[in-house]
Amino acid sequence: MTTVTQLIDKVKSYDPQANAELIAGAYAFAMEAHQHQKRESGEPYFTHPVAVAMIITEMKLDTASIVTALLHDTIEDTPVTHDEIEKKFGQEIVTLVDGATKLTQIELQSINQQQAENFRKLVLAMSNDIRVLLVKLADRLHNMRTLVHVKSEEKRKRIARETMDIYAPLAGRIGVHHLKDELEDLAFIQLNPDGRASIMSRLKFLREEGEDTVGSIIQSLKKLFRENDLKVEISGREKTPYSIWLKMHRQNIGFEQLADIIAFRVLVDTIEECYQALGIVHSSYPVVPGRFKDYISTPKPNHYQSLHTAIIGPNQQRIEIQIRTFSMHEVNEYGVAAHWKYKQGARGQEGDEFRWLRGLLEILESAADPEEFLEHTKLEMYQDQVFCFTPRGDLISLPTGATPIDFAYSVHSEIGNHCVAAKINGRMVPLRTVLHNGDQVEITTSKAQAPSPTWERYAVTGKARACIRRYIRNQKRAQFIELGRSMLHKNFKQEGFDYSEKLIEKHLKDIGCASLDDLFALIGEGLKTSQDIIRKIYPEYTQKRRFEPPLPSEFVERKESGTAMSIKGLIPGMAIHYAGCCHPLPGDRIVGIVMTGRGVTVHTYDCDNVSKFADDPDRILDIAWGDQRCEESSYVGRLHIILFNKVGSLAGLTTMIGKGGGNISNLKIIHRSEEFFDLIVDVEVKDAQHLSAILAAMRSASMVSSVERSRG
Ligand code: MN
Repeated sequence: MTTVTQLIDKVKSYDPQANAELIAGAYAFAMEAHQHQKRESGEPYFTHPVAVAMIITEMKLDTASIVTALLHDTIEDTPVTHDEIEKKFGQEIVTLVDGATKLTQIELQSINQQQAENFRKLVLAMSNDIRVLLVKLADRLHNMRTLVHVKSEEKRKRIARETMDIYAPLAGRIGVHHLKDELEDLAFIQLNPDGRASIMSRLKFLREEGEDTVGSIIQSLKKLFRENDLKVEISGREKTPYSIWLKMHRQNIGFEQLADIIAFRVLVDTIEECYQALGIVHSSYPVVPGRFKDYISTPKPNHYQSLHTAIIGPNQQRIEIQIRTFSMHEVNEYGVAAHWKYKQGARGQEGDEFRWLRGLLEILESAADPEEFLEHTKLEMYQDQVFCFTPRGDLISLPTGATPIDFAYSVHSEIGNHCVAAKINGRMVPLRTVLHNGDQVEITTSKAQAPSPTWERYAVTGKARACIRRYIRNQKRAQFIELGRSMLHKNFKQEGFDYSEKLIEKHLKDIGCASLDDLFALIGEGLKTSQDIIRKIYPEYTQKRRFEPPLPSEFVERKESGTAMSIKGLIPGMAIHYAGCCHPLPGDRIVGIVMTGRGVTVHTYDCDNVSKFADDPDRILDIAWGDQRCEESSYVGRLHIILFNKVGSLAGLTTMIGKGGGNISNLKIIHRSEEFFDLIVDVEVKDAQHLSAILAAMRSASMVSSVERSRG
C-alpha cells in the first residue's frame, strides 16, 4: 500500500505548493475511520481510499481533491460525521466530501438503458464541482480494478453495466480518455468475457507476428525525423479491446493487420512542429487518401487536439499516425483537469491552486459551438432539472421546483389522480414539498382520492397540470350527468311516464345527443329541459298533464260537502263544486269557472286547469272564501309526495299526517322505483293553513324527498 510519504512525494512532484500537512492529516484520519473495515478481497478497507487518491494524483489534481479522495467513504461507511470533517478540514473539503457521498448514495440503484442518459445527467447535476466527479470516477476505477474480488456474479455484472452505461461515458464527456478506456475495458471483461477473449487472442497473434514490425516502424520513423532535425517522441499505442469490438460491430468488419490495432503517436513541443512533422511524414511515404484529420485547428467538442493521418509506411504496411504536442497529449488523456493546469501555467503564478474551477469555467466558455458546449462540458447544464427515484429505483427526471404531485403524474396518471401522501427518503412530507436531486419518492395512493384544484398550484409539469384539469372537468361532467339523470327521472314521474333509459336511448338521435351521458350532462347543465325530451319521445305529450293515469273521476268536480263555508262573489243560486284537480282549501286564493249546465267549479287560482280558460275570460269568476266557517267541516287537500323507498317510510308518513291532525282519505302510489315512492295523498284538513303545517313537518322528515300541494 502506498505510504503517506509516497503519496505526498507524488503530489509534490507536480504541485510543489501542495499542502502536505493537510494530506497527511486526511491520510491518518481515514486510516483510523476505516480501521475495522475490510474489503471483499480481505484487504484493509483503507487501501481503497489511498488507491483512489493515487489515481487522483495521476490526474495531477489539487490538495483538496487528494484529501477528498482519502475521505470519500468516511461519511457513508464510518461513524465520522459531516461536522467532524468540517471542523478538521474546512468548508471546501467537507462540501466536496458531501458531494462524493451523495453520488455514492445514488449508485446502488438499478437502471435500464433508457435511464442511463438521465442517470448521467443526475451525476453531472450533483457534481457541482468537477473535482467531485473526478474523485467519483477514480473511486469507480479502483472498484473496477478490484471487481474480481466481488463474489456475486450478479453484483459484478450490475457494477460493470453501470460503469459501461454511466461512468465511462461521463469520463469521455469530460475528456478524461485514459479513464474512459480503462473503465470500458474492465467492464467489457465482465459483460462479454467471450467477446473480449476472442479479441485478446487475435491481438496476441497480431502482436507476436508484428512484434518486430512495431519496433522497426518506430525505428524507421525516428530515423526519418532525426534526418529532418526534428526532436520527437514516438510510441505505438494499442487500441483497447472494447474500442476494437465496437468498431467491428459498427462497421461489421474484422481486424486483420496491425494497423487496425495500433496507432503510432508522435509527440512534439509546439504546434508548428506538429505541422512540420506532418509534412515530413507526408513527403516520405504514400498517403492513404481520406484519412487526414486536423483536430488542431478544429478541436473535437471535448477539446481533443491532434493531427491524424494514415500512410503506407515502412515495410509497406498501412499505419495510422497521430501527431500532437505534449500538452495536447496530456489534455487528451486527462481532459479538463490537464487543460486547467496548462491555462494556469500560461498565466504564470498569479492564481493559486484553488483557481481550479475558475480556470475550468474559462475553458468551458471558450468552446466554439454553443450546443456542443452545452452537450459536452457545461456542468451546470442540468441545473434546471431534478432527478428522483421511484422505490423500485427507476429514475424520473423533472423540472426544478417539481413536487411529489409532478412525480406521481410522471410515473402514471392514475397514480397522480389517486395520490394522497408522499414519502421522501422514507419521511412523510406534504404533497407540495419541492423535490431535490437523488430524492427517493414514494407515493401513497387511495382509490377514494381525487385531484383537488389546489394541486394545480403545486404542479410544475405540463403533464400533471393537464391531468388535474382534465380530471376536474370530467368530475364536473360526472356531477352534471348525475343531476341530469335524476332530473329527467323525476320529471318523467311527474309527468306520469315510465322512466326508461332504453326508450330514451332509442330517441337519442332525434334529441341530437351521442350518448345518454351527453344528454344527462346537457340537462344537468340546464342546456336542455326534461320537457324537451318527453316531448320528443311522446309527441302527444302536453305539459298540462300532471298525474298519470288522469283518472276521470278525479278530473270532474265534487259536490260540495254540506254548506260549511260561504263563498263570496258567486251568482246566487249557482251550484258549487270543488275541483278535484287542485283541491282548494279555505285560505287558498280561489277562482270560479262557470261550467255550462253544471254551475260553478272552484279551483285554486294557480291551478293549471284554470289557464285553459284564459281564452274564455267570461267564464272565470273572481271569488273568495267567506268569513263564516263551520268548525266541524273538513276539506280535502291533495299532496304529491316523493318518499325514499326505505323500510318504514310509508308508515312514518301516515303517522306524521295523523300527528298533524290530518286524515288520509286517499293514498295512491303512482310509481315505485328502487330509490323512491311517488305518491298522491289526499288529506282531510280544516284549511290551507292546516295543510301547510303538515307540509312543513313532512319537509323536515328524513324519509321525505319532496312534497308539494297538487296544482292541478
Ligand atoms: Mn469508494
